[in-house]
Amino acid sequence: MQYQEVRNLIEDAGKKLNLPDDIIEQILEPQRIIEVNFPVKMQSGRFKVFKGFRIQHSNARGPYKGGIRYHEEVNLEEVKILAALMSLKTALIDIPFGGGKGAVVVNPKDLTNNELKRITHGFARAIADSIGETKDVPAPDVNTNSAIMKWFKEEYERVIGKKESGIITGKSVKDGGIKVRDEATGLGGAAVTQEIAKTLGKPNKKITIAIQGFGNVGNHIAHHLYHMGFKIVAVADVSGGVTHEDGLDYHMTAKEKKSGKNISELCHCDIHGPSNDCGLVGAKDVLEENVDILIPAAVGNQITTDNADKIKAKIIVEMANRPVDEKAEKILAKKGVIIVPDILANAGGVLASFYEWNENVNKIKMGYKQAQENLIRQMKEATAEVLKLSKSKEVPMREAAYMIAISRIARTIKK
Ligand code: NAD
Repeated sequence: MQYQEVRNLIEDAGKKLNLPDDIIEQILEPQRIIEVNFPVKMQSGRFKVFKGFRIQHSNARGPYKGGIRYHEEVNLEEVKILAALMSLKTALIDIPFGGGKGAVVVNPKDLTNNELKRITHGFARAIADSIGETKDVPAPDVNTNSAIMKWFKEEYERVIGKKESGIITGKSVKDGGIKVRDEATGLGGAAVTQEIAKTLGKPNKKITIAIQGFGNVGNHIAHHLYHMGFKIVAVADVSGGVTHEDGLDYHMTAKEKKSGKNISELCHCDIHGPSNDCGLVGAKDVLEENVDILIPAAVGNQITTDNADKIKAKIIVEMANRPVDEKAEKILAKKGVIIVPDILANAGGVLASFYEWNENVNKIKMGYKQAQENLIRQMKEATAEVLKLSKSKEVPMREAAYMIAISRIARTIKK
């Protein structure tokens, strides 16, 4: 995906909403691009300079909000796209945040634990004056976690000279985080899937699902969909996966996976009951399974012109960011496939981040069960709203989602 594609989607939605050009222009480009080059003393005793970004796309509706990823191939263009998507996502689910994203160009696997800590401290120092719990609130993302974010927070607090619990979301529970955060993206995706599945007009137990990816998102969405009574017939991670026509047993799959095995190593014919209707499937082939709902929950660009024709699912729920590319989307639209866009499907994580931030900053507490219930309700409401607009305006769900998000951002800008 290129940033130009995000611009086009925003412009198209703005035109459909009859918004003035001078309002749209304010959403097209990030408000601020911060690029830092900061030195870190490595294990060898020598300094090395690392590059980091923080893109602040829009704060029209509240503090910039978005994760920090560590990746050796991350670049400015990618971080710009992700920051803009965060502005749209927070507006779509109607929480008082804007959008941002950060990154450090590094492969954490090349580092010792101490080096990772020093890089995190260095990045926190480099961007400290641009962030804050009511200004810009980071979170973990690809290759970062609550432990890394704890280092980030401690250095940020050292720089500003006081405690600020809401500077980071995605903290561990003992450090001021909330229990629902870990499962939130998957739980939100399950709620979205449940809402959209109603359009199929059959009971959950007859609705078949295939999932690509069995990490944080894939695992939690599988868990919740299984308990909602859907039939998960295929699951794959990067090593490949398994299929079972009668439906996989989530708990057995998760248990085996937890024991350190790749999904493709699991002996599903044994653990899922005496049936011959089980087998192995490739990491990419899982996308072509004959199912009602396909859930790409691994990485972007999985459905392209190479395989769009071979997709058999009636509905695709985009849990990964942009797993279906622009050209593939056109092919799928012709086939009548409904695509639930990423900015809706995977927004459960940032919704839970809002609950955490609200608890830290505004002291509004929510218990675990209540957080789960609220998250499911809010995600279903957002889905119903997008679906309704999509039907009434006869536009794909992605376009409807962009229209709702942009109209909310524009309303705040105009004030
Ligand atoms: P993760 O690293 O925990 O898991 C990724 C999973 O995808 C693993 O099972 C891995 O084996 C699999 N995978 C990787 N490459 C693959 C490939 N080429 N083919 C098949 N499987 C592959 O990541 P995650 O946190 O579960 O995130 C998954 C996706 O959801 C990412 O695109 C991420 O950007 C997006 N997302 C995550 C969150 C969140 O809260 N974790 C929020 C929004 C969006």
